[in-house]
Amino acid sequence: MTVTVQAVPCLSDNYAWMLRDAATGTVAICDPGEAAPVIAALEAAGGRCDLILLTHHHGDHVNGVEEIRAKYGATVIGAQADAQRLPKLDQAVIPGDTIKVGQTEGQVIDSPGHTLGHIAFYFPDGDVLLCGDTLFSLGCGRLLEGTAADMFRALSLLKVLPPQTLVCCGHEYTESNARFALTVEPENEALRRKAEAVKAARAAGKPTLPVTLGEEMQTNPFLRASTVERLAEIRTAKDNF
Ligand code: ZN
Ligand code: FE
Repeated sequence: MTVTVQAVPCLSDNYAWMLRDAATGTVAICDPGEAAPVIAALEAAGGRCDLILLTHHHGDHVNGVEEIRAKYGATVIGAQADAQRLPKLDQAVIPGDTIKVGQTEGQVIDSPGHTLGHIAFYFPDGDVLLCGDTLFSLGCGRLLEGTAADMFRALSLLKVLPPQTLVCCGHEYTESNARFALTVEPENEALRRKAEAVKAARAAGKPTLPVTLGEEMQTNPFLRASTVERLAEIRTAKDNF
């Protein structure tokens, strides 16, 4: 059994992600940063929302939760470690736990760095990774709470996933990330081609996500950093870019 995934643009540059289990029609929404666009997408898809999955507590990922929960009676799933600062959880999970969207299993992956309680959800059967603000296309999350070592470990857990994995990030930052990435790896041909494609997609008003993990491994300097020190160096440079 498997899930399909669809981006739902929210706020100025956020994405919520809508998952649908093919076998049962069960629908999950990840990181609804606002209610209106998510409800519109849910209604267009059949007017059902069974689950809300949360990667971390920031408002631009959770502010739509209560309205969506009230309208659909959705079950809210998030990190036990952050239960105090997330909306009220119906199911509190820890890294290593398994969740279910209909018949499709998802794995909870520890993903600290941007925030300490950050988690990611990985659905092997659908090749879907919901990674919030940990991994972006051509970038990674700012280290608001964790250290470069935390982020390095988090990215290490993601980069071993299969190359066909669809990386579903919390923000459309790809175009500005590309400008920075080119300063880190100016000779990277795959990155240069990618930067052109991203520019064209954005000019046409198209999302650059999801992206495959295999493509990110060729082009994302943060994923390609082989040591904590290198990752820290790139992250600091990006913060000052
Ligand atoms: Zn965030
Ligand atoms: Fe965010």
